[in-house]
Amino acid sequence: MKSDLFQNEMISLKSIIKPYFCENFHKRIMPFEKELKTRSNSCCELCSSTSELTSYAVTPFQNGGRIDDYIFVCSTCKSQIEDADKIVANHWHCLNDSIWSETPAVQIVAWRMLNRIKNESWPQDLLEMLYLDEETLAWAKSTGDREDLEDVEYHKDSNGVHLESGDTITLIKDLHVKGGGFKAKRGTAVRNIRLVHDNPNQIEGKVDRQTIVILTQYTKK
Ligand SMILES: [Zn+2]
Repeated sequence: MKSDLFQNEMISLKSIIKPYFCENFHKRIMPFEKELKTRSNSCCELCSSTSELTSYAVTPFQNGGRIDDYIFVCSTCKSQIEDADKIVANHWHCLNDSIWSETPAVQIVAWRMLNRIKNESWPQDLLEMLYLDEETLAWAKSTGDREDLEDVEYHKDSNGVHLESGDTITLIKDLHVKGGGFKAKRGTAVRNIRLVHDNPNQIEGKVDRQTIVILTQYTKK
């Protein structure tokens, strides 16, 4: 359904596509904050840190974008999950404890991170201890985020440069905004973008004070 929206139009007003995203679309900053605080005891579900906690969407959603698709993590864990270049392998010794979590989404992220650093020997030992049932293992593998870092699906601009939330991008062509009745001109700078978590080809940003969804292939960092 989502992709249909883009068949004829390059970008859409957020308000147009909103019904097609999960109900927490507008609350993306910290979905399920209260529930996650309760589940995690207000600690990072990976390393138990209590500072700068935020919710992290474990994609692709397996539970309809409900709380079971989210984990509560600290900023250190989150930045390393989202950017392979920032990984400090030693930080992930914390998974010694968190691989025993009963929350599948936590097991998934633990599995993915251990696979990313498994050229060190100790993560392999943990991976052997981390038992995922068939369904959970399929979810863990479903992003291509496993053996090879190259397979990780990142949001990338037209030049293949990694995009991150908060970045400023420039549009590389005139884009007709579906439902907006205006054109976003080539060369327009879009500040403070947000990544659309469940689609590496889409970001959100404000043009003419309207939040629009932009395909990453038409952007340049
Ligand atoms: Zn953490």
